[in-house]
Amino acid sequence: MPKHIFVTGGVASSLGKGLTASSLGRLLKLRGLRVTLQKLDPYINIDPGTMNPFEHGEVFVTDDGGETDLDLGHYERFIDENLSRNSNATTGSIYQAVLAAERRGDYLGKTVQVIPHITDEIKRRIERVARNDVDVVITEVGGTVGDIEILPFLEAIRQFRNLVGRDNVCYIHVTLVPFIGPAGEQKTKPTQHSVTELRSRGIQPDVIVCRSDDPLSPELKRKISALCDVDERAVVNAADAKNIYQLPLILHDEGLDDYVCDLMRIEGELDLTTWEAVVEKVDAATRPVRIGLIGKYIKLPDAYLSVVESLKHAGFHHGAKVEIVWIQSENVEGLLAAGELSQLDGIVLPGGFGSRGVEGKIAAARYSREEGVPCLGLCLGLQTMAIEFARNVVGLADANSTEFDPTTQYPIIDLMLEQRGIEDKGGTMRLGAYYAVLASGSQVAEAYGEPVVSERHRHRYEFNEEYREQLETAGLWCSGTSPDKRLVEFIELPGHPFWVGTQAHPEFKSRPDRPHPLFRDLIAAALTRREATNAATPAPAAGTPEPSLTS
Ligand code: GLN
Repeated sequence: MPKHIFVTGGVASSLGKGLTASSLGRLLKLRGLRVTLQKLDPYINIDPGTMNPFEHGEVFVTDDGGETDLDLGHYERFIDENLSRNSNATTGSIYQAVLAAERRGDYLGKTVQVIPHITDEIKRRIERVARNDVDVVITEVGGTVGDIEILPFLEAIRQFRNLVGRDNVCYIHVTLVPFIGPAGEQKTKPTQHSVTELRSRGIQPDVIVCRSDDPLSPELKRKISALCDVDERAVVNAADAKNIYQLPLILHDEGLDDYVCDLMRIEGELDLTTWEAVVEKVDAATRPVRIGLIGKYIKLPDAYLSVVESLKHAGFHHGAKVEIVWIQSENVEGLLAAGELSQLDGIVLPGGFGSRGVEGKIAAARYSREEGVPCLGLCLGLQTMAIEFARNVVGLADANSTEFDPTTQYPIIDLMLEQRGIEDKGGTMRLGAYYAVLASGSQVAEAYGEPVVSERHRHRYEFNEEYREQLETAGLWCSGTSPDKRLVEFIELPGHPFWVGTQAHPEFKSRPDRPHPLFRDLIAAALTRREATNAATPAPAAGTPEPSLTS
C-alpha cells in the first residue's frame, strides 16, 4: 500500500508548497521509489481552465487534456513523470461529483452533507492516484490553513490517517519565519499560530518546513520544535535559494527526506548524483543571451511559468543564462519604432486568448522574420506568425484569425470546418496530447530527431487549410501536420536561422535535464546571433548601463 505525505501551508500563500512537495518527490524518487503528486485546490471552479491568467497564472495541460494548476508543472519537471488530470481536484469538481451522485439517487434517503459526503469524495480523489504501481503519494493542499474553504480538505486528510494507518501518513506544514526589521529578529510566532490552527482541526504536523530569507539559527529551530511539539530534526529550514532546482539539495541537507523516511519506515538508498549534475549545470550556465517574451499577461510572470522554465532549461543545456526581457505586446510597435528590440537575441511569442495585444505580436513576428532574429511561436504564436506572413509576404492585407476579426476577408486562422457556426464554444477546445508527423529535412524534424512527435494542445482555432497552398507557394513551410494531414502543427521558414511556430505547447514537456528540442534550438540560434553581433561590434565601455525594456 502506498505511503501518503500531505503538504499544507500556513501564515501566507505563495510560500512554495508546490516546490517543497516537488523537491521531496524528487528526493524520494532518487531513493528508487515510485512517486506521484497531486494538488487539491479549495476554489470552486471545476478546473482553472476558465480563469484569467492574471488570477491564477498559467493553466498547465496534461497529456490527457486536463487543464490543471501550475504546480503540476513543477511536479512534472521535478519528478520527471507525466501526470494526469486526476492529479488535480478542486472543490468545484468534488461538489460536482457529489451532486451528480445525489441526483442519480446514490445517497437515497440520506441528507447529503460536507461530512461525510464531501470529505469521502476528497478521500476518493486521494485514493484514486494511490495506484498499485506507486510507493509514495504526495498530496499538496492548496490555500492556507485558516481559510474557510480549506476545512473539508483538512478534515479529509485527518481522517485519511485512520483509513491507511498511522505509519503510512506524514503531515508536512510549510510556514514562513519572517524577519522583522525593527526588532532585528526572525519571528516564530506566525508559525506557532499556524500550527495551533492546524491542531484545532485535529492535525499535528510531523514536519515543519520554515521558509525564510536567511537561514534559521539552531536556537530558533529548537524553539519551534519545543513550541510546536515536533522533533528537532523535523524543523526543516528552506532559506531562499539561488534557483529553484537547488531546493531538493537544500531540503536534503536539512534532513527532510531522511526524517520522512524514518518516520514512515521507507527504505531506499539515496543517490543524488543525477540531481547534483542538474544543479551543476544550472550554476555553470553563464553565457548571456537575451530573449524577448512578448505577451499580454506579463505583469504576472506566473502566467508564462512553463515557458520561462523551458527557456531556462534550454539555457542550462548550452551553458547559457537566459535573460528574459518581458515585453507587453501592446508596446511592441512603439518599441520597434524606437529601435529598442534590436537588443534581443531571440523572441518567444507565447500562447494567449482574445484580441488584446495581437497586433503587437504580429509586428514582432514581422520584425523577427525580416531581421533574421530567431523566433519561436507557441500556439497563438504560430497563429500570429502565419497571419503576419499572409499579410506581408503573400499580400493578403487584412488577413486575420476569426477569433479577432470574425469578418476578415482572409481567415488564415479559423475554427475547424465542423465547428464553424456553432454558437456554444464549451468543450470545443483541442486539449491534451496529439501526434504530429514532421516533414523530413525540416528544421523541426532535425530538432526533434524523430519523424512523429506528440505534444500537448490547448486551443480552439487552427491554421486554415484553405490557405495552406498559397502560403507555402510564397515560401512558408508547413513542416508538421496531424497524421491525417488536415491540421497544420508546425510552420517554419527555410533560409531563416530559426523562425518556427508550433500549434502546440511544447513548454509543458521540457525538463531541467532534458530541454525541449524547440527551445534548445531557439537558444542555440539566439546564441549564434548574439556572438556574431558581438564579434562585429566592439563591446560597450565598462560601466555602460545595459539597456532595459522592462523599466
Ligand atoms: N486563442 C487561440 C486559440 O484558441 C490560441 C490559444 C493558445 O495560444 N493557447 O486557438
